[in-house]
Amino acid sequence: MPYLDHSATTPIAPEVIEAMNEAMGKLSRSEVANPSSIHTSGRAARSMVNDARRQMADLFGASPEEMIFTSSASEANNLAIKGCAFKSHPNPFHLIISAFEHDSVLNSARYLANQFDWINLSEIPPDSNGIVEPNAIHAALELTSGHRLVCVMTANNETGTIQPVLEIANLAHEKRALFLTDAVQAIGRIPVNVREMGCDFLTASAHKIYGPHGMGLLYLKSNLKIDPLIHGGHQESGRRAGTENIGGIVGFSRAMQLVHEHLAEDQIKLRSLESAFLALLRVNGAQFILNGSQTHRVPGILNLSAPGIMSDDLVIGMDLAGFAISAGAACSSGVIEASHVLTAMSLEPWRIQGGVRISMGRGNTLEEVIAAADAMSELCKKLKQDAPIPRGQTG
Ligand code: PLP
Repeated sequence: MPYLDHSATTPIAPEVIEAMNEAMGKLSRSEVANPSSIHTSGRAARSMVNDARRQMADLFGASPEEMIFTSSASEANNLAIKGCAFKSHPNPFHLIISAFEHDSVLNSARYLANQFDWINLSEIPPDSNGIVEPNAIHAALELTSGHRLVCVMTANNETGTIQPVLEIANLAHEKRALFLTDAVQAIGRIPVNVREMGCDFLTASAHKIYGPHGMGLLYLKSNLKIDPLIHGGHQESGRRAGTENIGGIVGFSRAMQLVHEHLAEDQIKLRSLESAFLALLRVNGAQFILNGSQTHRVPGILNLSAPGIMSDDLVIGMDLAGFAISAGAACSSGVIEASHVLTAMSLEPWRIQGGVRISMGRGNTLEEVIAAADAMSELCKKLKQDAPIPRGQTG
């Protein structure tokens, strides 16, 4: 089945499987063991984890001790936000986040603000192009004081829109606030370097970059301290207890290496695939509108609404035609809900209800994309006949 849902997860790269198999083989023969053990196999494991950490740090423009391996980007976002808030206690803490962050940021922030009266939350809506305006963050910073964390993702997971992170990081720092960016959807699509982005915290996920599921990363700037969420041993320098996932760490770092090797080529390919897809929809006479900025968007992520067509009808219809696309975020419950991203962008209801995400990846071919555009055009025509556009709606 042509797979056009790479923002939900990417297929694992063969080179990653190879690197992980090698690591797991060593584990199966006890050539490597628990990295905390002091015997030879333990030290071999420690050196494997250290190598991966060093390589990962190099690729992000960071130092090895600034890398914290986690079980997911969701955990990394929780760790950054809650770890920072709890460290601030008993001082009041203010979170300033964009209203279209991933749920792992939004729900962590909302949980904290609901549970603790010393924590406050400001949710800043993006503009209708899906861009967070630095002025809006500036205004929120002006209205608050004391310990603050600003969270704005590098690229949005539903629209692919790229955020002015450096500008926002600078504003935060001018006001002595910290800055977290969730770079999960940006890595592999645009360059991501912690120094160039000016962030204090950055989060990443392996399974979005052709790596294994169940591996995430938190970059934590060296001078900063957070409270751990998982207490136990001294792994990850006491910031995240638990025996390291050696296979996962090796796979993640190999995937990151491949991202760097392929980035320029992937960007060109993804841009040309999405242009072909959009051009063919137009040639086929399919009516649709692109949600989110045309220009400030990572390659390969498109969010489209067709007037009079509901997103789940399109997703299911495309699935039956053999194409995997999604309605905004992959919903863990399997139920498609109105997108909080498109809602935060204050789009018209038909665009919110109709938004579908087509996210292309390294392995997609032009033939697949042409076939998908043809199938989607046909489906749009059919669905429109079945459900005429309510009066007052336009494309
Ligand atoms: N942040 C963004 C922007 C995402 O798109 C996702 C996953 O969809 C996550 C965080 C969570 O990543 P993980 O699946 O590793 O928890």
